[in-house]
Amino acid sequence: MPELPEVENVGRAIAAALIGRAVTGVKAPFSGVLGQSLRATRKALVGKQLADVHRHGKYLILNFTGEGGGEAHLMIHLRMTGQIFVMDGYVPDKHVHVSFDFDGVPVHYRDIRKFGRLVLVEDGRRPAALDHVGPDMLTVRWSEWHARAAHRAAPIKAVLLDQGVAAGLGNIYVDESLFLARVHPEARPRDLDDATLREVLKRAKQVLRLAIKHGGTTFMNFADFHGRPGNFRRKLRVYGRGGEDCRDCGGTLEKTVVGGRGTVFCPRCQS
Ligand SMILES: [Zn+2]
Repeated sequence: MPELPEVENVGRAIAAALIGRAVTGVKAPFSGVLGQSLRATRKALVGKQLADVHRHGKYLILNFTGEGGGEAHLMIHLRMTGQIFVMDGYVPDKHVHVSFDFDGVPVHYRDIRKFGRLVLVEDGRRPAALDHVGPDMLTVRWSEWHARAAHRAAPIKAVLLDQGVAAGLGNIYVDESLFLARVHPEARPRDLDDATLREVLKRAKQVLRLAIKHGGTTFMNFADFHGRPGNFRRKLRVYGRGGEDCRDCGGTLEKTVVGGRGTVFCPRCQS
């Protein structure tokens, strides 16, 4: 599943390729991934230029402006298997559900499981559809995150995964962050001191930034915008390495379940 780093990279690639270009057409072989009718989507977007791309957690919002000053905002949530392709010579297969034309540049939305959504929203930064979503994990301030997380009695891993606390951290990056912060995934935030919580937030942001730099982690169904896989997987310290040696202490990494999710940690480094 694409996580924050992958979504950030998709957003950057869309911005680099398409800002300043106007939508000249929209086709939808399967319009079920659209939040509105194809007709309404066309009416809102055709003739408007992409002005900027904003990311909040795992959501992208494409902000369009029209010549007459009109605006439109398209929120994209890739969910499990959504992908966006802007590739020369790309031939859409049966999993491409929406295709846009940006002044002759074709842009395809592909989604094997069809859980992703492209929805017109009323606001380009924080639409009502994101009311249930916490502040973005990469940019949230310590004081805000502390107020939302520090009193919680759930395992820290579950709190980090809770998108209502802060948005964007998925399973892989939570395990990596907690390893770097030397915090046990079942530790409860309300039992941790501020210095430790600060370290967790700092490491979470560090892991996300590093993953963004490396194009994200390669997943079964995820390739970037140009069809290239991310290479962050090689940097992973614990995720997917249960039973293997800890790279820091040489002990054996343990695999367990926390908050319903497969979890790998080092019982020695994260005691
Ligand atoms: Zn260790």
